[in-house]
This record gives sequence, structure tokens and C-alpha cells, in this order.
Amino acid sequence: MRPCPACGIYGHRTLVVGIPLARPKGVPGNQETRVYTCDACGMGFSDDGVTQSALDEYYAQMGKYGDLGMYAGGDEGGLDTEAPWELSRAQALADFIAAHAPTGARVMDLGCSTGTLLVLLGERGFNNMSGIEPLSGAVRIARDGRGLDVSEGWITTLEGDGVYDVIVMSHVLEHVIGIHEALALVHRALAPGGLLVVEVPDSHRFDQYVHIPDQDFNTEHINHFSPIILSALIESARYECVAMQEGIAGAGPAHPYPVVRGAWRRAERAHPIDVSPHDRGTHRSALASYADVSEEMFAGIDARTRELVGATDFGIWGAGQFTMKWLRREAFPADQLTLLVDSAASRGGLRLLGHDVVAPSGVQDDEWPPVMLAGSAYAIAAISDAAARMGITSRIASPFES
Ligand SMILES: [Zn+2]
Repeated sequence: MRPCPACGIYGHRTLVVGIPLARPKGVPGNQETRVYTCDACGMGFSDDGVTQSALDEYYAQMGKYGDLGMYAGGDEGGLDTEAPWELSRAQALADFIAAHAPTGARVMDLGCSTGTLLVLLGERGFNNMSGIEPLSGAVRIARDGRGLDVSEGWITTLEGDGVYDVIVMSHVLEHVIGIHEALALVHRALAPGGLLVVEVPDSHRFDQYVHIPDQDFNTEHINHFSPIILSALIESARYECVAMQEGIAGAGPAHPYPVVRGAWRRAERAHPIDVSPHDRGTHRSALASYADVSEEMFAGIDARTRELVGATDFGIWGAGQFTMKWLRREAFPADQLTLLVDSAASRGGLRLLGHDVVAPSGVQDDEWPPVMLAGSAYAIAAISDAAARMGITSRIASPFES
């Protein structure tokens, strides 16, 4: 059993929701993702039988940032081809950091992906920066395309005592099993008075921004933080809160997504986690509400799926987090599904519910079924374009409301 990643207590937790999912071989964890809140501190977390080493290996192989074409400016590394929603989030974070740290600060971006934040900090005058990133493809773009000082590794790669003035963990802590171990390594590497800057999805507001049902209850996001719980957790690891800010990121074109960011100063004293019953309760209600809104949306998707496929064979284009759940819906017409394609090279070789995931280019003309459904609310336009370019005759449709 996984203890609460914030307060460390075992067994005192309440189930928010259990979601069956067709987790492919190679993606660590059970065939159901279970989301809990901690009865003692209100932290949200999943316990899917995953170990840190299994997760690390998974990220190295097929984390979403492995699909670099979607996220960064190709090998050139230019910001102009960065996904605009990613860029605006990174700009808000860069502005936040610039407001709290001098430009001469020694900055480490831990989990820096292709180095977009470091480029933006450079534009704001910062000149002593480095990054660590587990994915070699992202490191290559950061280093060769953008000329950044980025090395391949992960949190345990952080070396030296007191050698950084600012350590950034942007969209890292929601993925980490051992949060306290990570915060201790960062504490050691920070200089006295140094700043830890964190940004994570804001689970307190998930239910206000539902574009894809249960999107944040997935195989990768295993920790769920409200702003109050995030700060209590970080302060319990010997930091003092300097500033916090609610923000909006984009999870896709025109799909706003709530985030919370903050800066905490390295301190000597640890504050025990003390979240009030009211604040624990509102976080639990927010997560339960997100599950309810998601279920309602999924019921609509079930109905539209039936309508769109009728009695014919069909395929799905996109084998990501949504499709893993969709396939396990009771109403899903699994016996009519004949094809699963995904353009992302990192998903090739996956097997979901008895179907191999294949690249669109690997499908024979006569293998395309009459209907192909989009497996993502964000990708319908891209899928339609790709299908038109390839001369695919299947009708392309989306189970999501337009
Ligand atoms: Zn707890």
C-alpha cells in the first residue's frame, strides 16, 4: 500500500473514485486507477501498485514529452514552433521567477524538457542556468538546438551542496512517488536562502475545467494538490512560503487548465503538516466533483460512440490516456473495434484490449474500417488533416461534443 505522499500516514485514506483502464503492457500499474484522499491531511493521490523505478523506466521510454514533435520546435529548437499553450504557461512561470529572483541567480530547472523555460529566463536576463531532464530526445534539443547547459538525468542526479539559488520543479511533483525524498535532495542542493519554485496542476479547480473526462486521473499524475496542501507539504520539508499564484495553462488549443505555482525559501525549520478539516474537506469535495462531472461527460461520450459507429466496424485514432479508459466503459462496443492507430512513435508496440497499436502509415488500404473515431478531444483537426493527406476513406468523427 502506498502511504500518503504528503504526511506519510498509512491506511487512513478514503477512495474518491476507481476508474477501470486498459493499461497496456509496459505501462506500470493495475487495470484500474484508484484515487484517494488522505484522511489526515487531505492530499490526493493514486495507488496503482507502481514503483518509482518502474515509473522512471516508463518515462524514459514513452513519457508524453517523448513525442517531441508536439511539444517543441523540432531540432531547430525555435520558440516559434513551440505549442502556443505550452509557451504561454512557461512565460507566466518565467515572469513569476523573475519577480522573485535576481537575474544573477544560479538556476537549475529540474525536469526541464526541451529547455523552453530556460530560454524564456534567458530573455529576462538570467545568465547562469542549467537543467536536468530524463528524456534524451529532449536533452538533445535543449543542448544542440538551443545551446543550453542541460544534462540527462533525474532528481537523484542533482549534485553538490548549496550550489543553486533557484531550483525549479515545473510539472514534476505530480509524477513523483517519493515527494519528501525529492524535496530533501533539492534542499541540500539549494544555497541558504535559496528558492524552490514549483508548479503543479491545481486539483482544487479540476472540476471547473473538464475537457476530457478524468483526464487528470491518469497513469502519470499520481499526486493531486490543492494550493493549501501543496504549501503545507513543502513547508513540512523545511521551506517557508514566499509567494503563491493560481494560473491557467493550456492542455491543448483553447483548453484552459488550472495550475498553481509558488516559491518557497529554503529554511532550517520544518513545519508539521496541519491542514484544517475544512480545507481537507473542500479538496476531497473538489476531487469528487471532478469525478462526477467526468462521469456525466463520459455518459455522453458513450451515447455518441454508439450513434457514430452504429452496427459497423470502427477504429480509434489515438491510444493515449483517454482511450485507455474509453475502451473499458461498459457501453463501449468492443466487439466492433477492428483498428487502433496512433501517430506517436512512442506508442507503437503497445497492446490495448487485444489490439496492437499501429502507426497510420502501417495500415493497408483495405484495413481501414468505415468509421475512425478520434481518441482525443484536442486532436480531431490534426487527425482529419492527416487522414485527408493519406487519402483514407474512413469517416473521421469525434465522440466529444464539438
Ligand atoms: Zn496525508
